[in-house]
Amino acid sequence: MKRIAIIGGGPVGLACASWILEKIPGACIDLYDRLPESNDAITQGDSRGIAVSQGSHLLLNKIGAWPNNSPAIHKIHVSHRGHFGRAIVRREELQQDALGHIVRYADIHLAIRQALQKISKNSSNFTWHFEQKIDELDKQHLADVVIHAEGGLFKQQEWQEIYRDYEQAAIVGWVKTDRIHQHLAWERFTEEGPLALLPSHKGHEYLNLVWCGNPEATQNRLALFNENPAAILAELQKSFGTRAGRFIETGELRSYELGLNARKEIVQGHEVWIGNAAQTMHPVAGQGLNLGLRDAHTLAESITSYTNVHEALSEYQALRKTDRNTTITTTDFLARIFTSRLKPVICARGFALSSLQILAPVKQSLTRQMMFGQR
Ligand SMILES: Cc1cc2nc3c(=O)[nH]c(=O)nc-3n(C[C@H](O)[C@H](O)[C@H](O)COP(=O)(O)OP(=O)(O)OC[C@H]3O[C@@H](n4cnc5c(N)ncnc54)[C@H](O)[C@@H]3O)c2cc1C
Repeated sequence: MKRIAIIGGGPVGLACASWILEKIPGACIDLYDRLPESNDAITQGDSRGIAVSQGSHLLLNKIGAWPNNSPAIHKIHVSHRGHFGRAIVRREELQQDALGHIVRYADIHLAIRQALQKISKNSSNFTWHFEQKIDELDKQHLADVVIHAEGGLFKQQEWQEIYRDYEQAAIVGWVKTDRIHQHLAWERFTEEGPLALLPSHKGHEYLNLVWCGNPEATQNRLALFNENPAAILAELQKSFGTRAGRFIETGELRSYELGLNARKEIVQGHEVWIGNAAQTMHPVAGQGLNLGLRDAHTLAESITSYTNVHEALSEYQALRKTDRNTTITTTDFLARIFTSRLKPVICARGFALSSLQILAPVKQSLTRQMMFGQR
C-alpha cells in the first residue's frame, strides 16, 4: 500500500484527504496540520467572505462538508464606474439553483475539517499530526506520494515561475446598507480595481466587501477606518455609487496583497502541488479556492484509481492542464484589463461588458468555466 503525506491542513489539503478516505477508508495517509486539534483557532480565524462556485458546492456535498451559513447568489451585476457597459448573469440562464454561495473562510475551513474528522473515524491507517510544520529537507522523504497543500498568501510565498505583481491590495470586511439585498452580487470595476459587494451571512442588509486598490491607498483607507469610520463609508459610497443603497456601517476590515504566483509544473517525481501551493491568483474572478478544490478532487480520484504512483500523478497532471491554464489565464487577463489606466483599454473593457450582455453564448460559457472549470 502506498504511503501518502499531505502537508497543510487548509481547506484544500483537508478536502483532498477526505475524498481519498471516502473512496478508500483504509488508505495510508499522514496529514500534517499546523493548527492544534481544537477547532477554536479556526472558528476565531479568517472571516473574509469567499465566493464558492456551484461546482465546488457539489464536490463538497459528496463529503458532507457544507457550512449552514452560506447565502446563495442568484444574480450577478457587473458594471464599470463612470463608463458605459454592464452585464447581468442570472441563475436561470445557466439552469442552476444558484450561481454560487458566499461562505466565510473560517466556516468552510471548519466544515471540511469536521467532515474529515467524521470520515476518518474508521480509518486506522490515517494519522492527523497536529501543530506540525515540516521543514523543507524532511518533506521529500515523508512518503511514497508527497502532496503539497501549504497554501499561503501572495508575497508570503516563495516566487514561482509564473509571477505577476499587480500592485494591488484588497480590503475585505462587511458593509451595512439601508436596503434589503437578496441573493444579489455586485462586481463594479473602478479606476483603481474591482470592487465587489456580495451577500453576507450577517443578514439581508449586509454585504461582504472586497475593495481592490493600490497598496498605498488601501493602507490609507484602513488607517482612515480606524480614525474616522464615517469618512471611509463616504469614500466607499463615492467609489461604488448608490446602486446598492446607502452605506451606513462597516466592520471587520483587513487587507490582503494580491498577485499571481503559480508553478509551471505541478508534479515532480513523487511530489505534487494543489491549491494555493500550486497557484495563488487575484480574487477578481473568485477562483482560488474553487480551482484548488478541483485540484484536490482530481488528485484524490487519480490516487485512488492507480496503484502505481507515477501513473496516478501523470494522469493528475494531464487532467489538470486545461482547467488550470484556462483559469489562471482568464483571471490574469481580467486582473490586468480591469486595473489598467490606459484609455484604449478602459474603452475596450466597457465595450466588452456590453458585448457580453448581447452575446449570451459567450457570457454563458465564461460563467460555466467559473462555476465548474474546464471539464
Ligand atoms: C482577499 C481574498 C479573497 C479571495 N476570494 C476568493 C473567492 O471569492 N473565491 C475563491 O475561490 N477563492 C478566493 N480567494 C482565494 C482562497 O482564499 C485560496 O485560494 C484558498 O484559501 C486556498 O486554500 P489552500 O488550502 O490551498 O491554502 P490556505 O487556505 O492558505 O491553507 C493552507 C494551510 O496550510 C498550512 N501550512 C502551511 N505550511 C505548512 C507546513 N509546512 N506544514 C503544515 N501546514 C502548513 C497553513 O497554515 C494553512 O492552514 C481569495 C483570496 C483572498 C486573499
